[in-house]
Amino acid sequence: MNTPVPEYLANLLYNCKANGGGQLADYIPELASADPNKLAVALTTLDGLVYSAGDDEYEFSIQSISKAFTYAYVIEELGLDTVLKKVGVEPSGEAFNEISLDQSEDRPKPKNPMINSGAITTHSLIANADNTCRAEIIRKFFSELAGRELSFDMSIFQSEMNTAYRNLSIGYSLRNVSILESDPTEIIESYIKQCSINVTVKDLVNMISVLVNDGILPRTGERILSHKTVRQVLTVMTTCGMYDAAGDWLANVGIPAKSGVAGGIIGVLPGQVGLAVFSPKLDGHGNSVRGIDIMQQLSNDMGLHLLEGVPSSRVIVHDQSVVRTKPEVKVYKLQGVLQFTEAERLLRILQDEDKSDNIIVFDLSHISLVNDVGRRMFLDGIDRLRADGHDVALIDPDLVLRDAKTPRKFVPKIYQDIQEVLN
Ligand code: GLU
Repeated sequence: MNTPVPEYLANLLYNCKANGGGQLADYIPELASADPNKLAVALTTLDGLVYSAGDDEYEFSIQSISKAFTYAYVIEELGLDTVLKKVGVEPSGEAFNEISLDQSEDRPKPKNPMINSGAITTHSLIANADNTCRAEIIRKFFSELAGRELSFDMSIFQSEMNTAYRNLSIGYSLRNVSILESDPTEIIESYIKQCSINVTVKDLVNMISVLVNDGILPRTGERILSHKTVRQVLTVMTTCGMYDAAGDWLANVGIPAKSGVAGGIIGVLPGQVGLAVFSPKLDGHGNSVRGIDIMQQLSNDMGLHLLEGVPSSRVIVHDQSVVRTKPEVKVYKLQGVLQFTEAERLLRILQDEDKSDNIIVFDLSHISLVNDVGRRMFLDGIDRLRADGHDVALIDPDLVLRDAKTPRKFVPKIYQDIQEVLN
C-alpha cells in the first residue's frame, strides 16, 4: 500500500493551477522577472517526514518569511524580555513597510517583528562580536534548520539594494529614536541580505519542523529553541504574519503563518504539521494568491484550523474493576489523552474513593499523551489517595509520565503482583 499523501498534494496543485490572479512583486525589480507559473507545496509531519509536490526543488528568496526565524534566533540569544524592550507584539494593521512606530509607551518602538521596522530592529539585535556580517550568522542558522547549506541570491540582493530607499528611511527613523544603535545603512544591507537567502518549499518545511516540534529539530532530536521562544514566534505569526490580512487569514485558514513577497508562505500547526507553499503572484496585501488557495484547502481538508481545538477523549476511565480482594486491588484503566479536562474528570471520579488501605492501580497503557497540567494533576491525585491510606501503583509501559519533575515511588513489588493478576 502507498500512502495517499503525495497524490493528495499533487491534486491540490492541479486544482489551483487555474487561479491565475495576482501580480508579481515589482518593488524589488528582480522579482518582477520571476516565472509566474512555478508552483510547489510541501508538508512536514510531526516526526519530520517531508512530503512535497510540484516545483519542490525550485529555489526562491525567503524574503519576509525570514523574519519569523530571526525573531526566534534573537529571543533565544538575548531572552524575550530584552527583545520586547525593542519590538512589541501588536498587530499594526498597516502595510509591512509602513514607517510607523508604536508611541503608546515611554519610548517609541516598532509594533511587531513581522513588519519591516520590527524585522530590521530584530536583525540589528543579532550579536556579531567578531564583526561577522549578521546575515551570515543568520544564513548559518537557517542552514542548520534546513539541513543543508543555503546561499544568498546575490542578484535579488543587489536588485533590492539598488532601490532600498524605503527600508533605508525606516532605518534612519529607527536610528533617530535610538531603537537602532549603530549605522542604519549597514543594518539595512545585512537585513536585505537575510531576505535574499534562497530556499525551496522542502527547505522551508524542514526549517519549520522545529516550530512544529516545540523547539526540537526532529531530524537530529536536538533542542534548538525553548518552548517559550516557540510560543512567542507562533503568537506573532498568528496575529501579524500575513501582513494586514492577518484577520482574514485567521478566520479562513487558522494556522500561524508567515508570507514573503517572493511568493512563499509557511504555516505551522504546533504538534501536528508544518506546511509551505510557493507561487509568485501576489494579492493586494502581498500574499501569494495560489498559496492562500492551497493553504485554505489544506486547512479545510485536514481539519487544521487552530480554533477547532483538540477534542477531549471524553471518556478517561475506560474500565474500572476490583481484580482481587484482601487486600483489595482496584484497577482503573485509563485511555486517550490526559490534559486538564480529562485530569479534572478523573480526579472527580476518584473523589468517591473512601479512605482505606486498599491498592489502587492506574493502567496507563492506553494513554497516548500527557501534558504538563494533566501530569501535575494526576500526580497530585496520587498523593491525595496515598494520604487517605491507599497504596497506589502504576502500569506505565510507555513511560508517558516520564517527564514528572518529582520522582515517585512506584511500588515495584505490587506492580509485579498486579501484572500477574492482570495476565
Ligand atoms: N526584503 C523585503 C523588504 O524588506 C521583504 C518584504 C516581504 O517579503 O514582505 O522589503
